[in-house]
Amino acid sequence: MDCPHCHQSLSTLEIETSDGHPHSIEECLSCGGHLVEPYLANFLTLETARNVDSVIPKNRTTPIETPVCSKCGQTMPGIKDDSVPQTVTVFTCPNNHGDFFPKNQLFLFKQAQQSKIYYHKLWGIPLKSAFAVLIPVLIIFSLATLLPSILEQVSSTQETRIKASEILTPPLVTPISPTQVLISFSTQKPVKTTIRFTKGQIKTYEVSPAPQNNHLLSVEGLTSGTQYIYAISIDTGVKTINTSAYTFTTP
Ligand SMILES: [Zn+2]
Ligand SMILES: [Zn+2]
Repeated sequence: MDCPHCHQSLSTLEIETSDGHPHSIEECLSCGGHLVEPYLANFLTLETARNVDSVIPKNRTTPIETPVCSKCGQTMPGIKDDSVPQTVTVFTCPNNHGDFFPKNQLFLFKQAQQSKIYYHKLWGIPLKSAFAVLIPVLIIFSLATLLPSILEQVSSTQETRIKASEILTPPLVTPISPTQVLISFSTQKPVKTTIRFTKGQIKTYEVSPAPQNNHLLSVEGLTSGTQYIYAISIDTGVKTINTSAYTFTTP
């Protein structure tokens, strides 16, 4: 595969996500850019981003033209969204083949993301929406191959068995404080959702009482250093689908 920006061949870099799953990123040794699967940038630690972006490229100048997706040949526009500061450049494929970060931009994006979360923690201001810090996902379909260990089969009756990955993105847990987290995920179609906790606390939360695509729940009053287990219920209007269990541990 060629670099979307300078069209030299890309090399594959093995990395680990913040929840310990192995993944790969495509790296351009010529311009120092990185092609990242949709949504994956949200799951990297700052340290991983720093290591990834420490590559010393052959060419010190970043190409000026807009990158073109290596998979579909479409121009990749820059992301203009609350999640990406104006000083950081991230390009994304309109067909959701991935995000392209020119040299240093992956580290700068992660730094901005962490700073924003830290700022809210420090001032005790809840993030209005986790989508203010997440790289947006345009289409959810291609996530079937992403984070397969997180995306598990939906437990449902035999004839209505559907892959969770066809319905929702892996939920992202953003810790705001040792006692508060934000859980966010997106669905392909507008649906109503609830989250049911079965470990750490026994409680059911209404996440989206009205059908929508982006779902966000702020969970407060948690205990520091505790493991929580929860599942998501999706009400499509026709049937209710329950995902298998997800877990997180408070800091
Ligand atoms: Zn390149
Ligand atoms: Zn594409």
